[in-house]
Amino acid sequence: MIDLCPQCHNHEWNKEVTPDKQQITCPNCGHSWNFKAMPLFILTGCSGVGKTTTAMELQQRDINFIPMDADFLYNLMPHETDEDYKNMAEQIMSLSKDIMQSGKPLLWTKAGALDCFEETYHLQFFTKIYYLALVCSDKELEKRMREGRKISDLNWITSSIDYNQWFMEHGIISGQKIDTYDITGKDVHEVANYVQHWIDEKVEA
Ligand SMILES: [Zn+2]
Repeated sequence: MIDLCPQCHNHEWNKEVTPDKQQITCPNCGHSWNFKAMPLFILTGCSGVGKTTTAMELQQRDINFIPMDADFLYNLMPHETDEDYKNMAEQIMSLSKDIMQSGKPLLWTKAGALDCFEETYHLQFFTKIYYLALVCSDKELEKRMREGRKISDLNWITSSIDYNQWFMEHGIISGQKIDTYDITGKDVHEVANYVQHWIDEKVEA
């Protein structure tokens, strides 16, 4: 909506954001209008590590950002190919750019396909994307998956342990190291406190 041209009603994804990120320009008619660019926050990590639980705890607080769970898109959109995942990232960012016009940035929980965010048309509407991966020890992860999520599929557990290790040891998106927070032995309040602080210091900066 914010990128719909108020003058010629051009709704194509061909708008340009000015370098100061304070205005959107329509290439069809030359009109420019104000908008608020903000950071986009992604809370990631493998299945069972506590992304949704943390977001639910944050929703109970008086906070300066809006927690959202990207999983609802799996019911609405195909999610098989790289193109599907890129479309999903576009929809997340399209929705976010409108919601943040209210003055609050968004925090999305999302497990994978993180590279897609960096290749989108909508990237220009954000000041920056910040990624935080919740990680834990292999033993803790297996316990959480088996006991917390009732997952017994060994391939799923093994691939999750590998993904968790990747975040801890490599975890790079567009040349930027993904921040990590080790939740081993921590309760949901401690994890939510950390995430809240991680966002607040970036919004205030
Ligand atoms: Zn226009």
